[in-house]
Amino acid sequence: MTLSRAQTLPPSRSRSEKMLTSGSLLAVVAILAIVTSQLIREYGNATDSAVRAANNVVRLINADVQRSADLYDTSLLGMISTWQQPEVLSISPALRQQVMFDRSTAAPYKGDLVVLDATGKIVADSVSVIPRDDNFSDLASFARHREDPSLALHVDGPFKARWGFKDWRISFSRRIPSTDGRFVGVVVASMRLAYFHRLFRGLDVGQKGTINLITADGIMLAREPEQTLRTYIGQDFSQLPNFQRILRAANGSFTAVSELDGQRRMYTFSRVGDLPLIVVIAQSQDEVYALWRQNALLVTGATGLLCLGILWLSWLLSKQLKLRHLAERELSELAATDGLTGLANRRRLDMVFKQEWARSIRSDKPISVLMIDVDHFKAFNDRHGHDGGDIALRTVAKTLEASIRRPGDVAARYGGEEFLVVLPETDLPGAALLAEQIRQAIEALPPLNPGGHSITVSIGVACAQPRGENQRTELFSEADQALYEAKRKGRNRVECGAQVHTAFP
Ligand code: GH3
Ligand code: MG
Ligand code: MG
Repeated sequence: MTLSRAQTLPPSRSRSEKMLTSGSLLAVVAILAIVTSQLIREYGNATDSAVRAANNVVRLINADVQRSADLYDTSLLGMISTWQQPEVLSISPALRQQVMFDRSTAAPYKGDLVVLDATGKIVADSVSVIPRDDNFSDLASFARHREDPSLALHVDGPFKARWGFKDWRISFSRRIPSTDGRFVGVVVASMRLAYFHRLFRGLDVGQKGTINLITADGIMLAREPEQTLRTYIGQDFSQLPNFQRILRAANGSFTAVSELDGQRRMYTFSRVGDLPLIVVIAQSQDEVYALWRQNALLVTGATGLLCLGILWLSWLLSKQLKLRHLAERELSELAATDGLTGLANRRRLDMVFKQEWARSIRSDKPISVLMIDVDHFKAFNDRHGHDGGDIALRTVAKTLEASIRRPGDVAARYGGEEFLVVLPETDLPGAALLAEQIRQAIEALPPLNPGGHSITVSIGVACAQPRGENQRTELFSEADQALYEAKRKGRNRVECGAQVHTAFP
Protein backbone atom coordinates (compact mmCIF):
# COMPACT_ATOMS: atom_id res chain seq x y z
CA MET A 1 0.00 0.00 0.00
CA THR A 2 1.24 3.50 -0.79
CA LEU A 3 1.69 6.18 1.88
CA SER A 4 -1.27 7.96 3.42
CA ARG A 5 -1.74 11.30 1.63
CA ALA A 6 -1.43 13.53 4.68
CA GLN A 7 2.16 12.41 5.09
CA THR A 8 3.20 13.80 1.74
CA LEU A 9 0.87 16.82 1.11
CA PRO A 10 2.09 20.39 1.69
CA PRO A 11 1.01 21.42 5.19
CA SER A 12 -2.47 22.96 5.78
CA ARG A 13 -3.66 22.87 2.23
CA SER A 14 -7.10 24.30 3.06
CA ARG A 15 -6.14 26.34 6.12
CA SER A 16 -4.90 29.35 4.18
CA GLU A 17 -7.97 29.20 1.95
CA LYS A 18 -10.21 29.02 5.01
CA MET A 19 -8.36 31.94 6.59
CA LEU A 20 -8.71 33.96 3.40
CA THR A 21 -12.43 33.23 3.14
CA SER A 22 -13.17 33.88 6.80
CA GLY A 23 -10.93 36.99 6.79
CA SER A 24 -12.70 38.53 3.83
CA LEU A 25 -16.10 37.58 5.24
CA LEU A 26 -15.11 39.18 8.54
CA ALA A 27 -13.99 42.33 6.69
CA VAL A 28 -17.31 42.45 4.81
CA VAL A 29 -19.30 41.95 8.02
CA ALA A 30 -17.24 44.65 9.78
CA ILE A 31 -17.76 47.11 6.91
CA LEU A 32 -21.49 46.39 6.84
CA ALA A 33 -21.74 46.79 10.62
CA ILE A 34 -19.88 50.12 10.56
CA VAL A 35 -21.92 51.48 7.65
CA THR A 36 -25.20 50.31 9.19
CA SER A 37 -24.44 51.86 12.57
CA GLN A 38 -23.39 55.06 10.81
CA LEU A 39 -26.64 55.16 8.82
CA ILE A 40 -28.70 54.49 11.96
CA ARG A 41 -26.87 57.33 13.72
CA GLU A 42 -27.43 59.70 10.81
CA TYR A 43 -31.11 58.70 10.75
CA GLY A 44 -31.31 59.62 14.44
CA ASN A 45 -29.53 62.92 13.71
CA ALA A 46 -32.02 63.71 10.91
CA THR A 47 -34.90 62.99 13.32
CA ASP A 48 -33.32 65.11 16.06
CA SER A 49 -32.66 68.10 13.83
CA ALA A 50 -36.19 67.93 12.36
CA VAL A 51 -37.70 67.87 15.87
CA ARG A 52 -35.35 70.68 16.95
CA ALA A 53 -36.34 72.82 13.94
CA ALA A 54 -40.03 72.14 14.57
CA ASN A 55 -39.62 72.98 18.26
CA ASN A 56 -37.99 76.28 17.33
CA VAL A 57 -40.93 77.13 15.08
CA VAL A 58 -43.36 76.14 17.82
CA ARG A 59 -41.51 78.31 20.34
CA LEU A 60 -41.53 81.26 17.94
CA ILE A 61 -45.28 80.91 17.37
CA ASN A 62 -45.84 80.49 21.10
CA ALA A 63 -44.00 83.69 21.88
CA ASP A 64 -45.84 85.68 19.20
CA VAL A 65 -49.31 84.35 20.05
CA GLN A 66 -48.69 84.81 23.76
CA ARG A 67 -47.60 88.41 23.15
CA SER A 68 -50.74 89.10 21.09
CA ALA A 69 -52.93 87.42 23.73
CA ASP A 70 -51.29 89.63 26.35
CA LEU A 71 -52.09 92.70 24.25
CA TYR A 72 -55.73 91.60 23.96
CA ASP A 73 -55.84 90.88 27.68
CA THR A 74 -54.40 94.31 28.46
CA SER A 75 -57.11 95.88 26.27
CA LEU A 76 -59.85 93.85 27.99
CA LEU A 77 -58.55 94.74 31.48
CA GLY A 78 -58.40 98.42 30.42
CA MET A 79 -61.96 98.27 29.11
CA ILE A 80 -63.15 96.67 32.39
CA SER A 81 -61.47 99.25 34.61
CA THR A 82 -62.84 102.09 32.44
CA TRP A 83 -66.35 100.56 32.42
CA GLN A 84 -66.24 100.28 36.22
CA GLN A 85 -65.85 104.09 36.51
CA PRO A 86 -69.35 105.48 37.28
CA GLU A 87 -68.59 108.68 35.31
CA VAL A 88 -68.25 106.75 32.07
CA LEU A 89 -71.99 106.34 31.74
CA SER A 90 -72.57 110.05 32.16
CA ILE A 91 -70.28 111.25 29.33
CA SER A 92 -71.36 111.58 25.70
CA PRO A 93 -71.53 108.32 23.68
CA ALA A 94 -68.82 109.52 21.27
CA LEU A 95 -66.42 110.37 24.07
CA ARG A 96 -67.29 107.16 25.87
CA GLN A 97 -66.40 105.15 22.79
CA GLN A 98 -63.08 106.94 22.52
CA VAL A 99 -62.25 106.44 26.20
CA MET A 100 -63.28 102.81 26.16
CA PHE A 101 -61.50 101.55 23.05
CA ASP A 102 -58.52 103.76 22.24
CA ARG A 103 -56.14 101.63 24.35
CA SER A 104 -56.83 98.54 22.30
CA THR A 105 -55.41 99.84 19.02
CA ALA A 106 -52.04 98.05 19.50
CA ALA A 107 -53.58 94.57 19.27
CA PRO A 108 -52.86 92.93 15.88
CA TYR A 109 -55.63 91.82 13.51
CA LYS A 110 -58.14 93.28 15.89
CA GLY A 111 -61.80 92.60 15.17
CA ASP A 112 -64.71 94.12 17.08
CA LEU A 113 -64.51 95.00 20.77
CA VAL A 114 -67.76 95.08 22.69
CA VAL A 115 -69.03 95.43 26.23
CA LEU A 116 -72.03 93.24 27.06
CA ASP A 117 -74.28 93.87 30.02
CA ALA A 118 -75.54 91.12 32.35
CA THR A 119 -78.23 90.15 29.79
CA GLY A 120 -75.77 89.85 26.91
CA LYS A 121 -76.87 93.04 25.18
CA ILE A 122 -74.15 95.23 23.58
CA VAL A 123 -73.72 98.37 25.67
CA ALA A 124 -70.43 99.66 24.20
CA ASP A 125 -69.12 98.95 20.70
CA SER A 126 -65.72 99.73 19.15
CA VAL A 127 -67.15 100.08 15.62
CA SER A 128 -70.18 102.22 16.35
CA VAL A 129 -70.83 105.18 18.64
CA ILE A 130 -74.41 103.94 19.08
CA PRO A 131 -73.89 100.28 20.02
CA ARG A 132 -75.24 97.81 17.48
CA ASP A 133 -78.51 96.28 18.49
CA ASP A 134 -77.42 92.72 19.19
CA ASN A 135 -77.37 90.21 22.01
CA PHE A 136 -74.55 87.77 22.74
CA SER A 137 -76.09 85.89 25.63
CA ASP A 138 -76.02 82.78 23.42
CA LEU A 139 -72.20 82.91 23.33
CA ALA A 140 -70.65 79.98 25.18
CA SER A 141 -68.07 82.28 26.75
CA PHE A 142 -70.81 84.63 28.02
CA ALA A 143 -72.56 81.82 29.89
CA ARG A 144 -69.27 80.54 31.31
CA HIS A 145 -68.24 83.95 32.66
CA ARG A 146 -71.67 84.36 34.21
CA GLU A 147 -71.48 80.94 35.94
CA ASP A 148 -67.83 80.96 36.94
CA PRO A 149 -66.43 84.09 38.63
CA SER A 150 -62.96 82.52 38.80
CA LEU A 151 -62.71 82.29 35.01
CA ALA A 152 -60.05 84.76 33.85
CA LEU A 153 -59.16 85.38 30.19
CA HIS A 154 -61.22 83.04 28.07
CA VAL A 155 -60.61 82.13 24.43
CA ASP A 156 -63.54 81.08 22.29
CA GLY A 157 -64.07 80.13 18.67
CA PRO A 158 -63.40 79.90 15.92
CA PHE A 159 -66.52 81.43 14.50
CA LYS A 160 -67.48 83.57 11.55
CA ALA A 161 -68.03 87.25 12.26
CA ARG A 162 -71.67 88.27 12.39
CA TRP A 163 -71.13 91.69 10.87
CA GLY A 164 -68.93 93.39 8.31
CA PHE A 165 -66.22 91.28 6.66
CA LYS A 166 -67.48 87.85 7.76
CA ASP A 167 -64.13 86.11 8.19
CA TRP A 168 -63.01 83.50 10.76
CA ARG A 169 -62.21 84.81 14.21
CA ILE A 170 -61.56 83.86 17.78
CA SER A 171 -62.58 85.87 20.76
CA PHE A 172 -60.88 86.83 24.00
CA SER A 173 -63.25 87.65 26.82
CA ARG A 174 -63.24 88.59 30.49
CA ARG A 175 -65.95 88.94 33.12
CA ILE A 176 -66.90 92.41 34.38
CA PRO A 177 -67.47 92.27 38.10
CA SER A 178 -69.19 95.05 40.04
CA THR A 179 -67.33 96.57 42.99
CA ASP A 180 -68.99 93.97 45.22
CA GLY A 181 -68.10 91.09 42.82
CA ARG A 182 -71.49 90.57 41.12
CA PHE A 183 -71.66 89.66 37.43
CA VAL A 184 -72.49 92.81 35.52
CA GLY A 185 -71.35 91.84 32.04
CA VAL A 186 -68.56 90.64 29.77
CA VAL A 187 -65.95 92.41 27.63
CA VAL A 188 -65.25 90.63 24.34
CA ALA A 189 -62.51 91.30 21.78
CA SER A 190 -62.37 89.31 18.58
CA MET A 191 -59.19 88.58 16.66
CA ARG A 192 -59.16 87.75 12.96
CA LEU A 193 -57.56 84.38 12.18
CA ALA A 194 -55.74 86.08 9.32
CA TYR A 195 -53.27 86.95 12.09
CA PHE A 196 -52.20 83.31 12.34
CA HIS A 197 -51.94 82.92 8.57
CA ARG A 198 -49.67 85.94 8.44
CA LEU A 199 -47.58 84.52 11.30
CA PHE A 200 -47.38 81.01 9.88
CA ARG A 201 -46.64 82.10 6.34
CA GLY A 202 -43.28 83.54 7.39
CA LEU A 203 -42.12 80.22 8.87
CA ASP A 204 -40.45 77.38 7.00
CA VAL A 205 -41.47 73.79 7.80
CA GLY A 206 -40.67 72.32 4.38
CA GLN A 207 -42.69 72.26 1.18
CA LYS A 208 -44.95 69.45 2.33
CA GLY A 209 -45.07 70.45 6.00
CA THR A 210 -48.03 72.17 7.65
CA ILE A 211 -48.45 74.43 10.66
CA ASN A 212 -51.74 73.99 12.49
CA LEU A 213 -53.37 75.83 15.35
CA ILE A 214 -56.08 73.91 17.16
CA THR A 215 -58.09 74.67 20.25
CA ALA A 216 -57.76 72.47 23.30
CA ASP A 217 -61.14 70.99 22.23
CA GLY A 218 -59.73 69.86 18.89
CA ILE A 219 -61.19 72.60 16.65
CA MET A 220 -58.90 73.68 13.80
CA LEU A 221 -58.27 77.44 13.94
CA ALA A 222 -55.62 77.95 11.31
CA ARG A 223 -53.59 75.86 8.93
CA GLU A 224 -50.73 76.91 6.71
CA PRO A 225 -50.44 76.34 3.78
CA GLU A 226 -54.16 76.80 3.28
CA GLN A 227 -55.99 74.16 1.29
CA THR A 228 -57.27 75.53 -1.98
CA LEU A 229 -60.00 72.91 -2.51
CA ARG A 230 -61.29 72.50 1.03
CA THR A 231 -60.80 74.25 4.31
CA TYR A 232 -60.30 72.53 7.61
CA ILE A 233 -60.94 75.74 9.60
CA GLY A 234 -63.68 75.31 12.18
CA GLN A 235 -63.72 71.51 11.85
CA ASP A 236 -63.67 69.31 14.91
CA PHE A 237 -60.77 66.81 14.84
CA SER A 238 -61.04 65.76 18.46
CA GLN A 239 -62.12 62.22 17.48
CA LEU A 240 -59.10 61.48 15.23
CA PRO A 241 -56.48 59.32 16.98
CA ASN A 242 -53.53 61.61 16.11
CA PHE A 243 -55.34 64.65 17.46
CA GLN A 244 -56.44 62.78 20.58
CA ARG A 245 -52.79 61.94 21.19
CA ILE A 246 -51.90 65.62 20.76
CA LEU A 247 -54.74 66.78 22.99
CA ARG A 248 -53.75 64.36 25.76
CA ALA A 249 -50.16 65.65 26.11
CA ALA A 250 -49.16 69.26 26.65
CA ASN A 251 -46.27 68.96 24.21
CA GLY A 252 -44.11 66.39 22.47
CA SER A 253 -43.50 64.76 19.10
CA PHE A 254 -44.36 61.51 17.36
CA THR A 255 -44.56 60.01 13.90
CA ALA A 256 -47.80 58.72 12.37
CA VAL A 257 -49.77 58.58 9.17
CA SER A 258 -51.87 61.71 8.81
CA GLU A 259 -55.61 61.11 8.87
CA LEU A 260 -56.08 64.18 6.71
CA ASP A 261 -53.83 63.44 3.72
CA GLY A 262 -52.55 59.86 4.30
CA GLN A 263 -48.92 61.01 4.35
CA ARG A 264 -46.48 59.78 6.98
CA ARG A 265 -45.77 62.78 9.15
CA MET A 266 -43.69 63.81 12.09
CA TYR A 267 -45.85 65.76 14.54
CA THR A 268 -44.30 68.25 16.95
CA PHE A 269 -46.76 70.11 19.16
CA SER A 270 -46.98 72.41 22.13
CA ARG A 271 -49.60 74.30 24.10
CA VAL A 272 -49.52 78.07 23.59
CA GLY A 273 -48.63 79.47 27.00
CA ASP A 274 -51.61 78.94 29.30
CA LEU A 275 -54.11 79.59 26.50
CA PRO A 276 -56.40 76.76 25.33
CA LEU A 277 -54.53 76.65 22.02
CA ILE A 278 -52.14 74.05 20.61
CA VAL A 279 -49.64 74.58 17.80
CA VAL A 280 -48.96 71.46 15.75
CA ILE A 281 -46.15 71.25 13.21
CA ALA A 282 -46.70 68.31 10.85
CA GLN A 283 -43.52 67.70 8.84
CA SER A 284 -43.49 65.33 5.92
CA GLN A 285 -41.38 62.27 6.70
CA ASP A 286 -40.35 62.12 3.04
CA GLU A 287 -38.85 65.58 3.33
CA VAL A 288 -37.29 65.09 6.75
CA TYR A 289 -35.35 62.04 5.56
CA ALA A 290 -34.85 63.08 1.91
CA LEU A 291 -31.20 64.03 2.40
CA TRP A 292 -30.55 61.02 4.62
CA ARG A 293 -32.15 58.72 2.05
CA GLN A 294 -30.04 60.15 -0.74
CA ASN A 295 -26.90 59.75 1.35
CA ALA A 296 -27.92 56.25 2.47
CA LEU A 297 -28.46 55.17 -1.14
CA LEU A 298 -25.04 56.46 -2.12
CA VAL A 299 -23.26 54.91 0.86
CA THR A 300 -25.15 51.60 0.51
CA GLY A 301 -24.29 51.42 -3.19
CA ALA A 302 -20.64 52.21 -2.62
CA THR A 303 -20.42 49.79 0.32
CA GLY A 304 -22.13 47.07 -1.69
CA LEU A 305 -19.60 47.52 -4.50
CA LEU A 306 -16.73 47.51 -2.01
CA CYS A 307 -17.97 44.30 -0.36
CA LEU A 308 -18.55 42.63 -3.72
CA GLY A 309 -15.03 43.70 -4.73
CA ILE A 310 -13.55 42.20 -1.57
CA LEU A 311 -15.49 38.95 -2.02
CA TRP A 312 -14.55 38.76 -5.70
CA LEU A 313 -10.87 39.35 -4.95
CA SER A 314 -10.83 36.77 -2.21
CA TRP A 315 -12.57 34.31 -4.53
CA LEU A 316 -9.92 34.93 -7.20
CA LEU A 317 -7.16 34.58 -4.63
CA SER A 318 -8.57 31.38 -3.17
CA LYS A 319 -8.86 29.95 -6.71
CA GLN A 320 -5.19 30.74 -7.27
CA LEU A 321 -4.32 29.24 -3.89
CA LYS A 322 -6.21 26.07 -4.78
CA LEU A 323 -4.32 25.80 -8.06
CA ARG A 324 -1.03 26.34 -6.25
CA HIS A 325 -1.87 23.74 -3.64
CA LEU A 326 -2.79 21.29 -6.37
CA ALA A 327 0.51 21.90 -8.18
CA GLU A 328 2.46 21.60 -4.93
CA ARG A 329 0.65 18.39 -4.12
CA GLU A 330 1.42 16.90 -7.52
CA LEU A 331 5.06 17.94 -7.18
CA SER A 332 5.30 16.50 -3.72
CA GLU A 333 3.76 13.22 -4.86
CA LEU A 334 6.12 13.09 -7.80
CA ALA A 335 9.06 13.68 -5.52
CA ALA A 336 8.04 10.77 -3.31
CA THR A 337 6.99 8.27 -5.99
CA ASP A 338 8.96 5.95 -8.18
CA GLY A 339 8.33 6.92 -11.81
CA LEU A 340 8.26 3.42 -13.26
CA THR A 341 6.17 1.48 -10.74
CA GLY A 342 4.23 4.19 -8.88
CA LEU A 343 5.45 2.74 -5.54
CA ALA A 344 7.12 4.83 -2.85
CA ASN A 345 10.71 5.70 -3.73
CA ARG A 346 13.80 5.51 -1.48
CA ARG A 347 13.22 9.03 -0.19
CA ARG A 348 9.74 8.30 1.00
CA LEU A 349 10.80 4.89 2.29
CA ASP A 350 13.38 6.53 4.56
CA MET A 351 10.79 8.95 5.90
CA VAL A 352 8.17 6.29 6.51
CA PHE A 353 10.63 3.89 8.09
CA LYS A 354 11.69 6.58 10.57
CA GLN A 355 8.09 7.26 11.56
CA GLU A 356 7.17 3.57 11.86
CA TRP A 357 10.30 2.82 13.91
CA ALA A 358 9.32 5.57 16.39
CA ARG A 359 5.73 4.33 16.45
CA SER A 360 6.90 0.77 17.16
CA ILE A 361 8.95 2.02 20.12
CA ARG A 362 5.85 3.75 21.52
CA SER A 363 3.57 0.78 20.98
CA ASP A 364 6.29 -1.79 21.93
CA LYS A 365 5.55 -3.85 18.82
CA PRO A 366 8.02 -5.47 16.40
CA ILE A 367 8.67 -4.15 12.89
CA SER A 368 9.59 -6.36 9.92
CA VAL A 369 10.95 -5.78 6.42
CA LEU A 370 10.91 -7.91 3.28
CA MET A 371 13.78 -7.49 0.84
CA ILE A 372 12.52 -8.74 -2.54
CA ASP A 373 14.67 -9.35 -5.61
CA VAL A 374 13.51 -10.59 -9.01
CA ASP A 375 15.32 -13.79 -9.98
CA HIS A 376 17.51 -13.83 -13.08
CA PHE A 377 16.20 -10.54 -14.16
CA LYS A 378 19.20 -9.78 -16.30
CA ALA A 379 18.38 -12.84 -18.36
CA PHE A 380 14.72 -11.81 -18.45
CA ASN A 381 15.72 -8.44 -19.78
CA ASP A 382 17.90 -10.05 -22.39
CA ARG A 383 15.03 -12.24 -23.50
CA HIS A 384 12.21 -9.69 -23.48
CA GLY A 385 14.08 -6.47 -23.98
CA HIS A 386 14.23 -3.54 -21.60
CA ASP A 387 10.57 -2.63 -22.21
CA GLY A 388 9.46 -6.14 -21.39
CA GLY A 389 11.56 -5.92 -18.21
CA ASP A 390 9.81 -2.67 -17.28
CA ILE A 391 6.39 -4.24 -17.77
CA ALA A 392 7.43 -7.12 -15.53
CA LEU A 393 8.66 -4.71 -12.83
CA ARG A 394 5.31 -2.86 -12.92
CA THR A 395 3.44 -6.16 -12.63
CA VAL A 396 5.55 -7.18 -9.62
CA ALA A 397 4.86 -3.73 -8.04
CA LYS A 398 1.09 -4.16 -8.54
CA THR A 399 1.22 -7.62 -6.99
CA LEU A 400 3.12 -6.26 -3.99
CA GLU A 401 0.57 -3.49 -3.53
CA ALA A 402 -2.27 -5.94 -3.77
CA SER A 403 -0.65 -8.22 -1.19
CA ILE A 404 -0.19 -5.74 1.64
CA ARG A 405 -3.42 -4.75 3.32
CA ARG A 406 -2.75 -3.00 6.62
CA PRO A 407 -2.83 0.83 6.60
CA GLY A 408 0.76 1.16 7.88
CA ASP A 409 2.32 -1.31 5.39
CA VAL A 410 4.47 0.31 2.71
CA ALA A 411 5.94 -1.20 -0.46
CA ALA A 412 8.83 0.71 -2.06
CA ARG A 413 11.15 0.27 -5.00
CA TYR A 414 14.55 -0.12 -3.39
CA GLY A 415 16.76 -0.40 -6.46
CA GLY A 416 16.69 -1.69 -10.09
CA GLU A 417 14.72 -4.94 -9.65
CA GLU A 418 14.73 -4.87 -5.87
CA PHE A 419 11.74 -4.01 -3.70
CA LEU A 420 11.35 -3.48 0.00
CA VAL A 421 8.20 -3.91 2.08
CA VAL A 422 7.95 -2.37 5.56
CA LEU A 423 5.53 -4.16 7.87
CA PRO A 424 4.93 -2.28 11.15
CA GLU A 425 3.55 -4.22 14.14
CA THR A 426 4.46 -7.54 12.44
CA ASP A 427 6.61 -10.29 13.98
CA LEU A 428 8.97 -12.61 12.08
CA PRO A 429 6.49 -15.48 11.52
CA GLY A 430 3.83 -13.05 10.32
CA ALA A 431 6.28 -11.36 7.95
CA ALA A 432 7.49 -14.75 6.67
CA LEU A 433 3.88 -15.76 5.97
CA LEU A 434 3.22 -12.60 3.97
CA ALA A 435 6.55 -13.05 2.14
CA GLU A 436 5.51 -16.55 1.14
CA GLN A 437 2.13 -15.25 -0.11
CA ILE A 438 3.92 -12.63 -2.19
CA ARG A 439 6.34 -15.18 -3.59
CA GLN A 440 3.43 -17.43 -4.59
CA ALA A 441 1.40 -14.57 -6.06
CA ILE A 442 4.32 -13.56 -8.28
CA GLU A 443 5.07 -17.10 -9.28
CA ALA A 444 1.44 -17.48 -10.29
CA LEU A 445 1.60 -14.50 -12.64
CA PRO A 446 1.16 -15.50 -16.28
CA PRO A 447 4.33 -15.30 -18.44
CA LEU A 448 4.86 -12.15 -20.45
CA ASN A 449 4.77 -14.12 -23.73
CA PRO A 450 2.77 -17.32 -24.26
CA GLY A 451 5.09 -20.24 -23.62
CA GLY A 452 7.66 -17.97 -21.96
CA HIS A 453 9.12 -18.20 -18.44
CA SER A 454 7.28 -16.88 -15.37
CA ILE A 455 8.87 -14.36 -13.10
CA THR A 456 9.91 -15.45 -9.64
CA VAL A 457 11.29 -13.57 -6.68
CA SER A 458 13.52 -14.37 -3.73
CA ILE A 459 12.63 -12.75 -0.43
CA GLY A 460 14.73 -12.09 2.66
CA VAL A 461 12.78 -11.42 5.86
CA ALA A 462 14.09 -9.59 8.92
CA CYS A 463 12.43 -8.41 12.11
CA ALA A 464 13.36 -6.13 15.01
CA GLN A 465 11.83 -5.10 18.31
CA PRO A 466 12.69 -1.38 18.26
CA ARG A 467 13.67 0.01 21.64
CA GLY A 468 16.32 2.62 20.98
CA GLU A 469 17.85 4.53 18.09
CA ASN A 470 16.91 3.71 14.54
CA GLN A 471 18.68 0.42 13.61
CA ARG A 472 17.61 0.65 10.01
CA THR A 473 21.01 -0.40 8.58
CA GLU A 474 21.19 -3.51 10.74
CA LEU A 475 17.65 -4.53 9.93
CA PHE A 476 18.06 -3.96 6.20
CA SER A 477 21.38 -5.79 6.05
CA GLU A 478 19.82 -8.69 8.01
CA ALA A 479 17.07 -8.82 5.35
CA ASP A 480 19.71 -8.53 2.63
CA GLN A 481 21.64 -11.44 4.05
CA ALA A 482 18.48 -13.53 4.23
CA LEU A 483 17.83 -12.63 0.61
CA TYR A 484 21.35 -13.64 -0.30
CA GLU A 485 20.66 -16.92 1.49
CA ALA A 486 17.48 -17.42 -0.56
CA LYS A 487 19.43 -16.79 -3.77
CA ARG A 488 22.10 -19.13 -2.67
CA LYS A 489 19.61 -21.86 -1.88
CA GLY A 490 18.21 -21.80 -5.39
CA ARG A 491 15.99 -18.68 -5.68
CA ASN A 492 12.15 -18.42 -5.73
CA ARG A 493 12.05 -18.85 -1.97
CA VAL A 494 11.72 -17.03 1.33
CA GLU A 495 14.49 -16.97 3.93
CA CYS A 496 14.26 -15.45 7.40
CA GLY A 497 17.09 -13.77 9.23
CA ALA A 498 17.49 -13.81 12.99
CA GLN A 499 15.64 -11.16 15.00
CA VAL A 500 17.76 -8.02 15.05
CA HIS A 501 18.87 -7.06 18.52
CA THR A 502 18.21 -3.47 19.48
CA ALA A 503 19.52 -1.39 22.36
CA PHE A 504 17.69 -3.43 25.05
CA PRO A 505 17.79 -7.10 24.04
P1 GH3 B 1 19.66 -12.68 -9.54
O1 GH3 B 1 18.70 -13.82 -9.70
O2 GH3 B 1 20.93 -13.15 -8.89
O3 GH3 B 1 19.05 -11.54 -8.87
O4 GH3 B 1 20.04 -12.33 -11.02
P2 GH3 B 1 19.73 -10.96 -11.70
O5 GH3 B 1 20.01 -11.14 -13.16
O6 GH3 B 1 18.32 -10.57 -11.41
O7 GH3 B 1 20.67 -10.01 -11.01
P3 GH3 B 1 21.49 -8.77 -11.48
O8 GH3 B 1 21.65 -7.88 -10.34
O9 GH3 B 1 22.74 -9.35 -12.05
O10 GH3 B 1 20.67 -8.11 -12.62
C1 GH3 B 1 19.70 -7.14 -12.36
C2 GH3 B 1 19.23 -6.65 -13.63
O11 GH3 B 1 18.01 -5.91 -13.56
C3 GH3 B 1 20.21 -5.72 -14.30
C4 GH3 B 1 19.36 -4.80 -15.12
O12 GH3 B 1 19.46 -5.09 -16.48
C5 GH3 B 1 17.96 -5.09 -14.67
N1 GH3 B 1 17.32 -3.83 -14.29
C6 GH3 B 1 17.59 -2.99 -13.25
N2 GH3 B 1 16.73 -1.92 -13.22
C7 GH3 B 1 15.92 -2.09 -14.31
C8 GH3 B 1 14.85 -1.36 -14.85
O13 GH3 B 1 14.46 -0.28 -14.34
N3 GH3 B 1 14.24 -1.83 -15.93
C9 GH3 B 1 14.62 -3.01 -16.52
N4 GH3 B 1 13.96 -3.45 -17.62
N5 GH3 B 1 15.61 -3.71 -16.05
C10 GH3 B 1 16.28 -3.29 -14.96
MG1 MG C 1 19.41 -7.47 -7.89
MG1 MG D 1 17.80 -10.18 -9.47
